[in-house]
Amino acid sequence: MTTELFRDDSYATTAAATVVAVDGTAVMLDQTIFYPMGGGQPGDTGTLTLSDGQVLTVVDTRKGEGGIQHLLAEGSALPAVGAQVSLAIDWARRYLHMRIHTALHLMCAVVPAGVTGGQIGPGRGRLDFDVGETTLDKAAIEAGLNALVQADHPVSPRWVEERELDEKPELVRTMSVQPPRGAGRIRLLDIAGVDLQPCGGTHVARTGEIGALVVEKIENKGKRNRRVVVALAELAAS
Ligand SMILES: [Zn+2]
Repeated sequence: MTTELFRDDSYATTAAATVVAVDGTAVMLDQTIFYPMGGGQPGDTGTLTLSDGQVLTVVDTRKGEGGIQHLLAEGSALPAVGAQVSLAIDWARRYLHMRIHTALHLMCAVVPAGVTGGQIGPGRGRLDFDVGETTLDKAAIEAGLNALVQADHPVSPRWVEERELDEKPELVRTMSVQPPRGAGRIRLLDIAGVDLQPCGGTHVARTGEIGALVVEKIENKGKRNRRVVVALAELAAS
């Protein structure tokens, strides 16, 4: 399996790695900074540079049975197994994902309803809520989100043992999403005093890094369901 460097350092933009397998256009490495699509967050794009200077473009990153798959474009040159490569992610795109991903955690704290789905894009994202009879107020959600951004709360991932959760049921009760069981260890994302939930994605280190947010729209997705679309203010539709 691939060592997932992005789990402990979401700010790593470059790294060195060794090619361990190539399957079609999918390259597997011993370790990576490329985030594979999952949890509503798109897979990273970027480059693998060979020792002779040849640059291979990674067009997507996915989870696979043999580890994380760095997908090269069709017709791309392929590296040899055992080759040393320099990794670089498209940091501008990933940082937009990190800011929006963290904003969606804040939305879980602001909207008093269960989450049924979500999607993260570069500078814009959405969560779907089962609101029941509750009416959502666009202006109130936007004000709540921006207050949490301005408070600049620290954001920290941490690992807990399932045993620890069994011993502290109150920790699970405070989570907005229940943790999956069976892996032994669970990665939690803790926005101090704001939101705590299991999450394997990439986030910014403080909520202030998200910057000003705009709730662009609340869509009706059926009798009980509402979709809240949020964007970074610098990218929002005016
Ligand atoms: Zn997350």
